[in-house]
Amino acid sequence: MNSLMLNTDGVQIPQLGYGVWQIPADEAEQAVATAFKTGYRHVDTAAAYGNEEGVGRAVRASGLPREKVFVTTKLWNADHSRAEAAFDECLARLGLDHVDLFLIHWPVPRQDRYVQAWKAMEKIYRDGRARAIGTSNFTVANLTRLMEETDITPAINQIELHPYLQQRELRAFHEANGILTEAWGPLGQGKGLLEDPALTVLSEKYGKTPAQIVLRWHLQLGNVVIPKSVTPARIAENVDVFHFILDSEDMAAIGAMNKGRRLGADPETFNVT
Ligand code: NAD
Repeated sequence: MNSLMLNTDGVQIPQLGYGVWQIPADEAEQAVATAFKTGYRHVDTAAAYGNEEGVGRAVRASGLPREKVFVTTKLWNADHSRAEAAFDECLARLGLDHVDLFLIHWPVPRQDRYVQAWKAMEKIYRDGRARAIGTSNFTVANLTRLMEETDITPAINQIELHPYLQQRELRAFHEANGILTEAWGPLGQGKGLLEDPALTVLSEKYGKTPAQIVLRWHLQLGNVVIPKSVTPARIAENVDVFHFILDSEDMAAIGAMNKGRRLGADPETFNVT
């Protein structure tokens, strides 16, 4: 499993992880256990997913040394003013004494409390209870403000990113500022992307599934990627993407699929608490 270096001293993140959004609480332990057995070493959850307990049980029952597993969770929108207390609640649900990465889930600009939340996250990081801290769904403007008003640059910004929404401006901003790009909805969330004829052509050429072609594209762009599936065969398929290379023409062909089309919520207006 390939890993990428975070801007936090010495911390590395496995480039491909297992996303658990919408996996019911009572199925999460089994699903994450399957992912670990299949070779995943990185799991992405959130307070809002309601399944941190199951994720934590799977981590603890895996038999893997804690330092061999990378665990991410996220601060929910309602908790921007109480980030430290909310983080303690995450740790309690996970049954862990630290996480590897703690993210602000959404900026919620209307609330205007993400700078306050970030200052609390900086304290959590300095206390060693999160090995790295980052953001999710932050725009260039949100990141610029954080960098102006606080001390620590986010290690990662986790954003919606797939061939229909390639986020070139945000990726360039991340790269210029030492922030890793992490792609959520990397397979287009089962909403038609994988049936696109351009991917069918590449699937036939490489003898790989459309999902594998898209995941390989993410890896070659340098994205961290966290595909979700509860189907064991797909869990295995999605991690089996390290033994082929898309040539530059085919990377460009996927580059040409961009429609600037969001499948999920818009961070500028997402205010759910
Ligand atoms: P995804 O793009 O990973 O799509 C998942 C869906 O794709 C599955 O439900 C299934 O229908 C299909 N699929 C998966 N593997 C497949 C395969 N091999 N072949 C065919 N179809 C396949 O979407 P996602 O779950 O939204 O995103 C992945 C993870 O990103 C989430 O689980 C979560 O951890 C994270 N996420 C974060 C945010 C955020 O706001 N930070 C938002 C959404 C998701």
